Amino acid sequence: ETQPAPVVIIGTGLGGYGIAREFRKHDSDTPLLLITEDDGRAYSKPMLSTGYTKNTDGAALTQSDAGTMAANLDASVWTMTRVQAVDTQRKVLRLADRETEVHYAALVFATGASVIRPPLGGNALERVYSVNDLMDYDDFRTAMERLEAKRIAIIGGGLIGCEFANDLLNGGFEVDVIDPLQHCLPTLLPEPCARALQTGLEAKGARFHFGPLVTEVNHPAGSRDSVEVSLSDGGVLEADIVVSAVGVRPNIELAKSSGIAVNRGIVTDRHLKTSAEDVYALGDCAEVDGHVLVYVAPLMAAARALGKTLAGEPTQVSYPAMPVTIKVPACPTVVAPPAADAEGEWQFTVDGTSTQGEYRNAAGDLLGFALTGEATKQKMTLQKLLPPIMA
Ligand code: FAD
Repeated sequence: ETQPAPVVIIGTGLGGYGIAREFRKHDSDTPLLLITEDDGRAYSKPMLSTGYTKNTDGAALTQSDAGTMAANLDASVWTMTRVQAVDTQRKVLRLADRETEVHYAALVFATGASVIRPPLGGNALERVYSVNDLMDYDDFRTAMERLEAKRIAIIGGGLIGCEFANDLLNGGFEVDVIDPLQHCLPTLLPEPCARALQTGLEAKGARFHFGPLVTEVNHPAGSRDSVEVSLSDGGVLEADIVVSAVGVRPNIELAKSSGIAVNRGIVTDRHLKTSAEDVYALGDCAEVDGHVLVYVAPLMAAARALGKTLAGEPTQVSYPAMPVTIKVPACPTVVAPPAADAEGEWQFTVDGTSTQGEYRNAAGDLLGFALTGEATKQKMTLQKLLPPIMA
């Protein structure tokens, strides 16, 4: 008797392990295989930007190693293994540097997103770090110690840049944040709320530089102790380490080269099904019925639905309103951005660093909100008034 082909999951982030757990709630028999190009440690990625505040290094953030996860999930977990190609006709995977082919009964892409690297010149690019997973975080913490870093320049004043700014300030470091746009979290927060968040971080010592791009990172002549960060407006900042946080892009290359439909993310319907038979996607890599949402709440909703679907009970995913909490305790911030095609206007109530932005249409319906400081207490009340993202 031959073993049935396994359900194969590519990726062991919150998406990959999340769908594995959900699947096992409904099916304890079908063989399950997870394949990851990282070390397979289970961890909560959002905690990467609270490590200095909570004094947690990579080891402390590790919830379980790959072996423990395999045992808990009654699965195989192959680490440091890159999936190179998918043959969706024969339903087999090819792995990098290996001859073996892996057959699948169903395949799930949970390949996440990669950091966007800004084009930088200079002779000190080895001092530029980006932190998008636990292995990156180990490297970053090690470098911070080895270099005895005190001054950190952060490229990008978005969600991740501002969270790292707050966390590093809490850790006692000096922080400069550089962003070409005019205020922080430019794609998520309306300006009055962003100014409140900025004020909160400035009160803790952050220095913001809005307008210029970072062009080069160089060691000063004759010294390797520090770096000079050159800005497009002619400014130069001194730092010990640079953190690049300009955003992420869904990992769609493997799907694309395997002939699976992609757009901004791997295209799926509301069953998380891609254009290929028995192939699914969820998490940062997926574009679910037009939505690319690189957050934990949508990924968990998707995992719950897909867990049932894979176990033989086809289930669509719904997205309720899912406000995003920005982990900036210097100025607590919650935002539920209006849909891209929403028609309405922002109205603000501002009282110091307490700001309440409400986005309403002509009929007065609430379509989005942004809250900072004291006003974050309104979150639950306002959340109930929001329409679902995907009913
Ligand atoms: P990932 O965790 O990136 O996992 C991708 C997996 O795919 C990895 O295991 C990788 O090895 C594997 N992989 C990729 N390609 C291949 C291949 N070809 N072969 C084999 N393996 C492959 N979200 C929130 O909702 N709230 C927050 O407060 C929050 N804070 C954040 C703070 C930081 C610093 C960061 C970086 C993100 C934060 N996010 C937050 C976003 C959230 O963490 C992500 O949306 C989520 O973790 C994505 O999980 P994922 O499983 O889709 O992707």
